[in-house]
Amino acid sequence: MHLVTFRLDDGSSQLGRADGGQVMPLPGLRDVLDGIDYALAGGDLAARAGGDPLSLSQVSLLAPIPRPRRNLFCIGRNYAAHRAEAERVLGPRRAEQHPAVFTKVPEAVVGPGAAVNLYRDLSGQLDWEAELVAVIGRPGRDIPEADALDHVFGYTAGNDITVRDVQRRHGGQWFKGKSMDTHAPLGPALVTAGDFGDPQNAEICCTVNGTVMQRATTADMIFSVAQIIHELSLGMTLLPGDVIMTGTPAGVGFARTPPRFLAGGDRVEVSIPHIGTLSNHVLEV
Ligand code: MG
Repeated sequence: MHLVTFRLDDGSSQLGRADGGQVMPLPGLRDVLDGIDYALAGGDLAARAGGDPLSLSQVSLLAPIPRPRRNLFCIGRNYAAHRAEAERVLGPRRAEQHPAVFTKVPEAVVGPGAAVNLYRDLSGQLDWEAELVAVIGRPGRDIPEADALDHVFGYTAGNDITVRDVQRRHGGQWFKGKSMDTHAPLGPALVTAGDFGDPQNAEICCTVNGTVMQRATTADMIFSVAQIIHELSLGMTLLPGDVIMTGTPAGVGFARTPPRFLAGGDRVEVSIPHIGTLSNHVLEV
């Protein structure tokens, strides 16, 4: 099932099921968070659709979860080739036994078609990171790796937009440089876990103005989605609607020769088969 959250004329949001270029509204459910709560309570999302179908091209899509309840959980340096390109620029790092974890604030989330802000008085180093994003459905703590994927409600695409120089100048943590307004595009659809299939067998691609910058498969992750969920859940309960960004492949801007950062007017797109293309443009502010 492909779930989309879209804007209604009155400014509120509506959850819908996308199918063949149409969207069937799911009345009474505002977004994917509502859909998760409804499914957890035993509701049947597939049977909930009602009202007149809308044309997918005519609705204004929002992020599947326009405002997550908690910070987004993010994993850093999780593809070997990206780790290697970062080490070329920044120097060698210790081999990690555990995934690098940071967060982004929920207010950074925007949807497909939204502007990504370039804060020109702050930094010119605005960078892209295409990522597969897992959304938790069933809560849990100390989740065994073997059971971890049973806790996933679905998957979407994300762009872990990063202000590189700011990322590195606040005591070694990445929070500030990763959490600015508009710097967490998500979407366009959330594909439920059973329909998405194996999260370690997905292609992921990022283009800037149509030029491919990143192309990889999630098979190249150092820590799998199941391992990430296991580790995050140790001593810390994961909750329905938690958003987990699973890391980015090689090809980010700062590690290119010469470095390439996003400029006003650029279009940056993240594509994952079945989920679709998350397209955003850069706006200088
Ligand atoms: Mg990232």
